[in-house]
Order: sequence, then C-alpha cells, then structure tokens
Amino acid sequence: MSKFWSPFVRNLVPYVPGEQPKLAKLVKLNTNENPYGPSPKALAAMQTELNDNLRLYPDPNSDLLKNAVANYYSVQSNQVFLGNGSDEVLAHIFHGLLQHDKPLLFPDISYSFYPVYCGLYGIQFDAVPLDEQFQINPADYAKPNGGIIFPNPNAPTGCLLALDAVEQILKASPDSVVVVDEAYIDFGGETAISLVDRYPNLLVTQTLSKSRSLAGLRVGLAVGHVDLIEALERIKNSFNSYPLDRMSNVGGAAAFEDREYFDKTCGLVIESREKLVAQLQAKGFEVLPSAANFIFARHPKHDASELAAKLREQGVIVRHFKQERIAQFLRISIGTPEQNQALIDGLGDL
Ligand SMILES: *Cc1c(COP(=O)(O)O)cnc(C)c1O
Repeated sequence: MSKFWSPFVRNLVPYVPGEQPKLAKLVKLNTNENPYGPSPKALAAMQTELNDNLRLYPDPNSDLLKNAVANYYSVQSNQVFLGNGSDEVLAHIFHGLLQHDKPLLFPDISYSFYPVYCGLYGIQFDAVPLDEQFQINPADYAKPNGGIIFPNPNAPTGCLLALDAVEQILKASPDSVVVVDEAYIDFGGETAISLVDRYPNLLVTQTLSKSRSLAGLRVGLAVGHVDLIEALERIKNSFNSYPLDRMSNVGGAAAFEDREYFDKTCGLVIESREKLVAQLQAKGFEVLPSAANFIFARHPKHDASELAAKLREQGVIVRHFKQERIAQFLRISIGTPEQNQALIDGLGDL
C-alpha cells in the first residue's frame, strides 16, 4: 500500500493464476494447457510473419483472424470481437455489458476470475449454488438480474450444460446479456454460437489457449449480435487499439484453418480423458462427468490437499482450490498418455 495509489486499488482482490513452475521437468497438469503443440501450420505462419514488418503497428481490427473465425462459425465478421486472451475479452464484457443495477448471476462454483472482474468494475453479483450433483440448474437463473455468465462446460467441474438448457436460460432473461464462456467447448460440447442469430442477448466467448494450444499467444474471442460487439469495440478502442499483435493475427487465422490438426488433437485429449477417468475410478476416486480437457475428482478416504502435496513430491502438479464446497476435489488437466500415467503412478496405492 502506498499514498500514491488511486483509492480503489486498495480494495482490489486480484486473480491468482495456477503456478507456472520454473523447473522444466515437472509433469504440469494444473492449468489446462493442451499437451499437444499448436498446429504446425500456425507455427509456420508466425515464423513467416517474424520479419522487418514488426516495426509497423498491426491491423487494429485483426481482420484476417476475424474473417477466419467468421468463416469457421458461419457468422458475419462484425459479429466477432477479438482480444488479448479471452480474459481480456471477458474484462471488456463485464465493463461494457454487465454493469447494471441488478446483480450479475453466476454459479457459486465457477471461474474464479468472475468475482475479480466484479470487484474491478464495481458490479454486484449473486452466486447461484450448483445443485447437489454440481450441475447448473437453468430454473435457478430465472430471477431478476443484470446479466448472467457461466462457463460451458463449467470450470472447474468440467460438467456440460446441454444446448436446450442454455436456451432455457436465454429465454427466461430476454432483457439481460447472457454470456456463455466456452473456453472448453471443443472437448465434448456443442457451441451456442448456432443460437446467436436467434437471441440478441447471447454472447459466446472462446479462447485459443485450450483446444488450439496457443495459451502463450494470448488470443480470445466473442461472437454475438452486432450491437453487443459494438459495445466491446467501443471499450477496446478506448483502452488499447492494438490488443492483438502481428503473430496473433496470422497464427490464430492459420490455427482456425487447420481443422484436421484441431480434430486430431482434440480427439486424442478426449480419448486420454476417458482412459484416465477409468484409471482414477479404479483407485476409488469419484470423478464428475467431464466434457473438458480436465477432470474434477475426489477420493472418499484421502484429503485432497494431502494428495496434491504427495503428487508434487513425485513431480506432478495438479490444481487444488481452497473454496470450502470443493476443498476435497483435485482438478487434473489431461496430459499426454505418458503424463497421465505419471499421475497414476504418483498416486500409488491408495
Ligand atoms: C482458461 C479460461 C479462460 C481464459 O482463457 P485465456 O484466453 O487464456 O485468457 C476463460 N474462461 C475460462 C473458464 C477458462 O478456463
């Protein structure tokens, strides 16, 4: 704390990201990165872009990537918004579309950045409890609100909400923006982007960090009605005109165009997930049904923080949250078959 700070900084509670260890040898299953690298075509496109043109500013609208996303999802390019990671896209959404008199609704167990943005932008929120099975119940969101946001699949549970249930939430709150954060949708869900032309209150966000294995590049996007996108463009152009650099524009576009590599690597992750779930269940774990590139599991006889510490000693890191309702769960990212085996070996006999 310092006398030089703006008053509101004293009360900020920042997000704490999962550890990025400096030791290279660790089996890193704690931040849901993709174990397979980015598309070789995306890497080649970025290598070509690494030239003297870097002295010039990038395209402020990143039209190349916008068009690639619009083409991929069969929407208009003015229905697409891009940002420096979907975290930045979400920040602009909270600022520009979710700051209202009534409280914002999101699940009690959800992405822990949402309450942080509420603190940053002074937004009141109401955390809606997941049901006993850790599922979102659409009927719980049919109450007065200034907006709704939830990840689908949810994080850190991995549980998927079917598209007709998403639609039920949209129909019950036609006067609020409903944001579906689809960071993990490509690992087993169906995107709600198919609904944007029918629901002007729907905004879908996605990231290139997980299914497209470009967490280090920082690219995220939102798709929705042009009026919603215009609000985000206003904020972006009042904050940073160039959130995406030259590498992101060409690398992101090439990643969307390389469907073959995308399908192959998502398929491998899904296959490994099913195998890992079976192995953990054989060790007595209860595993929530996952449609993501991670699983959320608890053991009835072993304390989760002790298990996480034991795994760390074996060089395997997983994520443990202290929040009371989920304190006995571990969130485990899906790795390569070798990394998953290291996790199983590290758990030993339980
Ligand atoms: C990973 C994640 C994001 C952020 O992704 P970036 O594009 O890397 O900023 C957003 N929402 C959820 C639920 C996530 O898990």
